[in-house]
Amino acid sequence: MQPQSILTHTKLEALSLKSQFQYTIENFEWYDNSRLNIIQACKRKAYYTLMFSGGLGSTTGNGATFGTCVHYANEIYYNNWGRYSETDRRAMAIQAFVRKHRELFGEDPQVDTKHTENRGIAILTDYFQRFLAEDPFLRPIDNELRFIITIYPEPGDPDYFTTPFLYLGRCDGLWLRERDSSLWIRELKTTSQQASKELERLAVDRQPTSYFYSIGQFPLPDQTQLKGIICDVIQVAATKFEAARDYIYKTPKQILLWRAHTIRLVEHWREIRDRTDFASKWSVEKEYYQETNECYSKYGQCPFYQACRFGEEILSSKERNLWNPLTAE
Ligand code: SF4
Repeated sequence: MQPQSILTHTKLEALSLKSQFQYTIENFEWYDNSRLNIIQACKRKAYYTLMFSGGLGSTTGNGATFGTCVHYANEIYYNNWGRYSETDRRAMAIQAFVRKHRELFGEDPQVDTKHTENRGIAILTDYFQRFLAEDPFLRPIDNELRFIITIYPEPGDPDYFTTPFLYLGRCDGLWLRERDSSLWIRELKTTSQQASKELERLAVDRQPTSYFYSIGQFPLPDQTQLKGIICDVIQVAATKFEAARDYIYKTPKQILLWRAHTIRLVEHWREIRDRTDFASKWSVEKEYYQETNECYSKYGQCPFYQACRFGEEILSSKERNLWNPLTAE
């Protein structure tokens, strides 16, 4: 699967490719950042997540739902860039947030103070205001960029890497800084933590590097150069306002290391798969080992905690997981 021009990856076209993505990835071995994070965190959890719903595909509480509303408002705000005044775009974004919030939380939700509709409006207003001065200089090319690439064996790769795999993802857009024709991948996160701290963590996270590597595989528009990732982090808190932005650069070495580490992670995962006798429960449980430091994370209890504690039988009522990050809303 060869990357096509990035110019074809407009939102509309990406959406029209939804069914193709669904078809494509179910028939291939694919990875994305979330899948690799789980594989890295706990092999047992990764196995359960791949096999059953209730893992990655499930929601992770009010924080994640509120984040979806903020992302939706952002999309509306930047989709209308260059077509309406900033004041109008802001009003449209706030309306979009309210619509989404009512759709996902209900008309009269019982939510904690930091996840209310009014709090969301205040947080978004603060965010738009903070970056108002930069807004006219960053032209959005796309506000939800979905990509799929194939990582093939290349000279210099370890001998054991012989079978390619797909890597896919979606980021929160691609922006053109017109002053120097530089292209910037955009990533937006909401967090209950301090925004500046989350931004520092994001600067070394695998995810922005994976975007840079993957989007760098596509032919870019003439006269432009992919420069880095603009990461925005918005803190979601009951009274405090904090949003932070950084322009993150990646060195060629960091990009190459991302690819090398990804291959190693995938090969280790394959090794476990190839050793496992899937007809034997003992073999599965033996090979897909547990990492009990991961049972409680910032998202709370692992969704498979009961299975680990009381036995896998508890999962028999769960459906197979067909969650697909490219087609998920
Ligand atoms: S409960 Fe803990 S050990 Fe079990 S799958 Fe989840 S993270 Fe892994």
